[in-house]
Amino acid sequence: MSSHPPEASRNPIPPLRVAVAGGGAAGMIAAWRAAGLGHAVTLLEANERLGTKILISGGGKCNITHAGPVPELLRAFPPAQARFLRPGLHEFDNAEVLELLRREGVVTQARDNGRVFPLDRPGSAALVTAAFEALVRRAGVAVRLGARVAALQGARPRLEALVLAGGERLEADRFILATGGASYPRTGTRGEVLGWLAALGVPVTPWFPALAPIPLRRPRPAWEGVALRGGALQLRAGPGGKLLAAHTGDILFTRAGISGPAALELSRAVEAARRSGEAWLGYAIANQGEAPLEAELLDLQGGNPHLAARTWLQRWLPERLCGPALEEAGLPADQRMNDLPRAGRKALLALVLAFPLGEPGPVDLERGEVSAGGVRLEAVEPRTMALKGWDNLRVCGELLDIDGPVGGYNLQAAFSTGYLAGCQYD
Ligand SMILES: Cc1cc2nc3c(=O)[nH]c(=O)nc-3n(C[C@H](O)[C@H](O)[C@H](O)COP(=O)(O)OP(=O)(O)OC[C@H]3O[C@@H](n4cnc5c(N)ncnc54)[C@H](O)[C@@H]3O)c2cc1C
Repeated sequence: MSSHPPEASRNPIPPLRVAVAGGGAAGMIAAWRAAGLGHAVTLLEANERLGTKILISGGGKCNITHAGPVPELLRAFPPAQARFLRPGLHEFDNAEVLELLRREGVVTQARDNGRVFPLDRPGSAALVTAAFEALVRRAGVAVRLGARVAALQGARPRLEALVLAGGERLEADRFILATGGASYPRTGTRGEVLGWLAALGVPVTPWFPALAPIPLRRPRPAWEGVALRGGALQLRAGPGGKLLAAHTGDILFTRAGISGPAALELSRAVEAARRSGEAWLGYAIANQGEAPLEAELLDLQGGNPHLAARTWLQRWLPERLCGPALEEAGLPADQRMNDLPRAGRKALLALVLAFPLGEPGPVDLERGEVSAGGVRLEAVEPRTMALKGWDNLRVCGELLDIDGPVGGYNLQAAFSTGYLAGCQYD
C-alpha cells in the first residue's frame, strides 16, 4: 500500500488541464487524484449523475472490493490481466479504497467469502457513490453532467479535443478515457469509445459478453427460481463431448435459461465455445465418478427394491425437479428401483453426474456484469495507464481489456487503474 496525502499533495509541475471522460468508478478516482495533484480537472459524464453503475452494483449494495493481500486479489484475474494490474493494485489497493470511504463515513465489512460491502443497509451503494462524488467535488473537479463525448479529435501522438454531443469542443493538455464497458447500456455505457480508439489506430479487442446469464436453447420456465447446488457447471463440446471448462458453484433456473454464480462465471467461455462450434452444458451434482455411484445404486436396488427412483434423486436434486427430471430422462415419475432396467439406471446416473441443460443460446453482452474485450493491455503502460505512442492520452477502468470474476474485483480494478491514470504526469 502506498502512502500518499490524498488531497493535499501538489505537483511541482505547472497545473495541466485534464479532461476525464466518464464519471464512473475509474473516472471519479482519476479526476479526484489529478485534482489532488493540483491540476485543473474537468469530469464529463453522459448521465445526469455520477456513478450510475456503482449504484446498481452488488444488487444495490455495492460489493466495493475483495478482502485480502494484493497477490491474492491478483490471482483472481487471468495471468496477463494480473500482470498488468500489479502496479496499480500495489499503488492503490483495497485497503486504500476502504480507508478513503471510511473517511467519508462509509463503514464497510468483509463477508466470510471475502466480498466487502458497506454495512448492511438498503441502498448502501448510494452511500459509496455519494462518498466518491464528495471527494471529487471537494478536490475542485469541474463536474459536467449530461455531457456525452461524441467524438475524439486528434491523431497519434496527440489527442487535441473531446467533441461533445451538441458540438462543443473541449481542449485539454491531458485526456483520460474512463467510459467503461458495453454492458447495461441504459446506465450510460454503450461502448462506443472503443470503436473510436480503434479508428485512431489503438489496438483493441472487440467487446465480448462476460458474467452474464446463459440462455438455453430449451429453457425450463416452469423451473424458474429453482437452484442446483453444491456441484459444478460443465461446458462440453457437445453431449458427452470433451470437457472444455467447468465452474464450481450454484446455478439458478431463469425464464430463459440459467443464472447464478457458476453460470455468470462460465458465460464467457460458453459464448466463445458456442461461436466456434458445439457447446453443451451439464451440471455435475454428484462429486464422484460413475462407477462408485452405480455400485451404490445397484446395492439399493438389491436391498430396497420398493424404493422409488424419485426418493433417491431427492438426495441430489430439489424435490420440485425430481418428477420432471425423471420424465426428461425417459423414466416415469413413479419409477421403482426394482424394475429399473440397466438403461434406466444409466439415465438416472446421468441426471446427477451431469444434469443435462443442453445447448446454450447466444449470451447477451448487454446483460453482463462486466464486458470482456477493450483496449488491449499491451498497448497501455501499466504504471501510468498511458497509451503507448500517445503523448497525452490515458485509459482506465473497464474500457481496458480486463474482466475479473464476481466478488468486488472489477470495481477494485477500476479504482486502481483510475488512480494511476490520475497521477504521475511528466
Ligand atoms: C448489474 C451490475 C452489478 C455489478 N456489481 C459489481 C459489484 O458488486 N462489484 C464489482 O466489483 N463490480 C460490479 N460490477 C462491475 C462494475 O460495476 C464495473 O466493472 C465498474 O463500474 C467499471 O468502472 P468504470 O469506471 O470503468 O466504468 P463505469 O462505472 O461503467 O463508468 C463509466 C461511465 O462513463 C460514462 N460514459 C460512457 N460513455 C460516455 C461518453 N461517450 N461520454 C461521457 N460519459 C460516458 C457512463 O455513463 C458511466 O457513468 C457490476 C456491474 C453490473 C452491470
